[in-house]
Amino acid sequence: MTHSTSIEFLKGIGPDRAKLLRDVLHIATVGDFLNYFPIRYLDKSKIYTAAELHENLPEVQLKGTISNLQEISYGAKKRLSAQFQDETGSINLVWFKYSKWLKDQIVENKSVFIYGSITVFNQAFSMAHPEIEVEDLETQQKTWLPIYSNSEKLSKRGINQKLFQNILKNITLQIPILIQENLPNYFLKALNLMSRQDAYLNVHFPKDELTLKAANRRLKFEEAFFFQLGYALKKQNHHTNAIGNPFPIVGDYFNNFFINHLPFDLTGAQKRVLKEIRGDMRKSIQMNRLLQGDVGSGKTMVALLTMLIALDNGFQSCLMAPTEILAQQHYNGISDLLEGTGITISLLTGSVKKSARKPIHENLLNGDLKILVGTHALLEPIVQFKNLGLAIIDEQHRFGVAQRAKLWAKNKIPPHILVMTATPIPRTLAMSFYSDLDVSVIDEMPIGRKPIITAHRREKDRVSVYNFCRDELKKGRQVYFVYPLIEESETLDYKNLGDGYAHIVEHFPEYKIGFLHGRMKPDEKDAAMQKFARGETHILVSTTVIEVGVNVPNASLIIIESSERFGLSQLHQLRGRVGRDSEQSYCILMTSDKLTNESRKRIKTMVDTNDGFKISEVDLEIRGPGDLLGTQQSGVLDFKKLNLAEDAILIAESKKAVEKLIEKDPFLNHVDHKDLKIYYKNYYSGKIKWGKIS
Ligand code: ADP
Ligand code: MG
Repeated sequence: MTHSTSIEFLKGIGPDRAKLLRDVLHIATVGDFLNYFPIRYLDKSKIYTAAELHENLPEVQLKGTISNLQEISYGAKKRLSAQFQDETGSINLVWFKYSKWLKDQIVENKSVFIYGSITVFNQAFSMAHPEIEVEDLETQQKTWLPIYSNSEKLSKRGINQKLFQNILKNITLQIPILIQENLPNYFLKALNLMSRQDAYLNVHFPKDELTLKAANRRLKFEEAFFFQLGYALKKQNHHTNAIGNPFPIVGDYFNNFFINHLPFDLTGAQKRVLKEIRGDMRKSIQMNRLLQGDVGSGKTMVALLTMLIALDNGFQSCLMAPTEILAQQHYNGISDLLEGTGITISLLTGSVKKSARKPIHENLLNGDLKILVGTHALLEPIVQFKNLGLAIIDEQHRFGVAQRAKLWAKNKIPPHILVMTATPIPRTLAMSFYSDLDVSVIDEMPIGRKPIITAHRREKDRVSVYNFCRDELKKGRQVYFVYPLIEESETLDYKNLGDGYAHIVEHFPEYKIGFLHGRMKPDEKDAAMQKFARGETHILVSTTVIEVGVNVPNASLIIIESSERFGLSQLHQLRGRVGRDSEQSYCILMTSDKLTNESRKRIKTMVDTNDGFKISEVDLEIRGPGDLLGTQQSGVLDFKKLNLAEDAILIAESKKAVEKLIEKDPFLNHVDHKDLKIYYKNYYSGKIKWGKIS
């Protein structure tokens, strides 16, 4: 028997069953069976006594005798009942559905094991549909029994749990030849990991709970380890092979700006990430760095200072944002900051007129234009730089991999890449999703920011919500009202938005109210946004177009309507539109009265914390990694045992192990790492394709 032996030749299977198993469960070989892990276990190691029973037990096993078997009619229905007793007491057994065959199987007054879950009925313990086994030699050794995921189609053809258990029992006997260790011995010792063979044996037939835990830990570790090893090797490869333009100097552009134009002191975190970025760009290796920072943490300033370093070294820079509004805003903000410095900057988006584009294209090519801000219009082939040295991508999750590749191609030696995201990625995902990137984190807000106060309100509170809103407006602050916009019910959503707008206009006659949604033309959108930014409108009624990055520091209140319809990360992004100066800001989450458990959890999380990382962890728990990252990535994160939401500690341990290994033996050439290398090559090296932002 080997890993690749067809299951057809296993005892109890044969060609027909083999075909079924292949078609339905994708089990074709002995190896597939070994990796078909149980979904749960029956704990047959412990025998309870009737006296020990209490209400909150899971399934339990008892040993004793059955008596008083009888059929009881109630109405047109019948049920079967019996007494079970051991030396300490008795419980009721009951069958609501049964056949004559089943009834005949129940033996009275003989020593049996029964197994099932306990309920309390009429103040007595009772077990419905117990599993019954007569005590004989075979049942003497009581262990944990594996239960495998199965389908009705298979069980009808005799492929039941018993068969699974028997087959796996036979296969696990061969483990010494089937399973080879893939981690070096010193690893197992240092990390207190079970051997691979023991893990496979115990995951199917655990000796006890502790052993099962150890087996699971080992198998999870292995998955996390090899997965991360892939990224680490990729990153290492990038660091040695991807050439980039070195930026050795910090010169006049940077220094003049820093000394004469910087409107505030940088936070410690901003300084630190700048140093990290600077460290990268100094080398003749292309930078490939992710800048994570919660909404409002000041990523734009870091971006600008980074661009100035590129300029100091004789290179142009570009900044790409996912929407027109954002690109416009970056352009406005950066132009203001650069006023008086003489640095040239232009905006290029889809709505820039043809006639205006021509000089932009020309000045980019001849090098007169130093900084270009825009949307994906930047990616068009006609946009050619004289020497693009740095490309910054804001809110990267909106851009696809292929789009980013086009940026790389804008210069012979690819530009340094800085990807900025305000969507914190749970640490466990960051390890997998981004671990081929270098990551910088701004984990500190500008001084004096007060945490946004978030409250959950319902329709019945609307009057007081409006009163609160009026109080903020009276202080001279501004307010966002946000309505959901979800594709499937778009028409209805626009109706809600329109109704909401009319309602708000009616309630706040003394204030100017703006309106913003995705169906407006780009210049209308921009005008609405600009009016709000300049304080000419006091309230902005909007769909989620304002979601990403919009910066109006005077806005102190955001009211999110039907907030149960938003995802967590979206709510967090929306909330980040306020709290952008040193005054107190507020977020009110309006919901209907009826909430699903999941929406309740989302709302509660928002009320409880402002920490984007914590929010992302909850989001991961609720949605799972596939949903969080989008389908493109989720396939790669198909782990058998590892759970990204639960196994953070193990993932951290395995990451450390990978780092140590790569440091010691970067090409895995040491004899101790031979098996590890072979295993990696066979099972992992082809799997990681999308990691690089190329
Ligand atoms: P984000 O990280 O969400 O893109 P921004 O770059 O838009 O954040 O910055 C949010 C606000 O904080 C802006 O108004 C910006 O001018 C301001 N800001 C950034 N850094 C600092 C700082 N070190 N001190 C004070 N205010 C700052
Ligand atoms: Mg931003």
